[in-house]
Amino acid sequence: MKTRAALFHGVGRPFEVREIELREPRADEVLVRVAAVGVCGTDLHVAKGDWDRPKPMVLGHEGAGVVEAVGEGVTQLSPGDAVVLSWAPSCGRCADCRRGRPAACIELQRAIGAGTLLDGTTGMEADGGVVYRGTATGALAERLTVGAEVALPLGDGVPLEQAALLGCAALTGVGAVLFQGRPAPGACVLVVGAGGVGQFCVQGARLAGAAEIVCVDPLEARLEQARRLGATRTTTPDGLRDTMRDVDVDGADVSFDAVGSPDTTALALRWTRNGGRSVVVGLPAAGERLDLDPAEFVRREKELTGSMYGSEDPRRALPVLLEHVRSGELLLEPLLGPRFTLDDVDDAFAAALDGSPGRVLVEP
Ligand SMILES: [Zn+2]
Ligand SMILES: [Zn+2]
Repeated sequence: MKTRAALFHGVGRPFEVREIELREPRADEVLVRVAAVGVCGTDLHVAKGDWDRPKPMVLGHEGAGVVEAVGEGVTQLSPGDAVVLSWAPSCGRCADCRRGRPAACIELQRAIGAGTLLDGTTGMEADGGVVYRGTATGALAERLTVGAEVALPLGDGVPLEQAALLGCAALTGVGAVLFQGRPAPGACVLVVGAGGVGQFCVQGARLAGAAEIVCVDPLEARLEQARRLGATRTTTPDGLRDTMRDVDVDGADVSFDAVGSPDTTALALRWTRNGGRSVVVGLPAAGERLDLDPAEFVRREKELTGSMYGSEDPRRALPVLLEHVRSGELLLEPLLGPRFTLDDVDDAFAAALDGSPGRVLVEP
């Protein structure tokens, strides 16, 4: 079958929006009409050349849409069902899958690096050549086929353009707080970076009942957004010392680095209290290394860990998030940024690279 998709050909080159050949859904796959795709930091890493990926590649993995057809053996979904795309089509057999951490699945990591699905195919072709899939998904297309286990039922009442954010930024940011950082009610939480994931860390901290939520980012527009979503104090990096003094704590109980650069990880760890926990949520560029004082872990007994895709199986985490969305506690609408069509995908990426305070959406 034919569909239109945005093909990434390399750093600095415009996307090519064109018709491609898409494989019909096989057994245990579904065909999804994509409604909205958020431009995520992972897409930007590829677009900037931080990570080398095979090309041409269809980027985009934070999506929502409607099931159009189901392959043989799919019983849990029917045409017409609204779904959120998860980008963790894991093998189900490796040690990480058995531990309930599909995002760490070795087969999945291999597939993401190779730009394919888990079986090494992509189901996408153009001019007889393979078209690769970003993050084992490739959602910047009008239609795509995915494994039925990664098309998560959305149910009613959440608009698709908002639901797209659930598929990556929300699961990642809220999940990092609720399932990995786990601040106690009344805790002081620090969030470094107020991009899409950082804004969801702020909301996760609010959901967890944190008393103080300090958010740090160089951009005032993002800090303003963080305040609307629950940050109790916001500051640019150079004001962090004074802000923490105002909170009257020697550091956060739990901190989150939603950026993932060595500098931001060090900043989050530094402003974590003795015995506190620091969680890296943002993905680093390839080859990055940390230079840390071991006394942080010995004398000050701090804990440094990370969180990948919310540290929980998306099939279990999404229903928890949806409950918070339906009760009005987890806000999606204010996080929406500028919206673009597939033909304007270059403008969408330019806006995202420019640090848009709201999530940039493409609506294929
Ligand atoms: Zn993402
Ligand atoms: Zn696995």
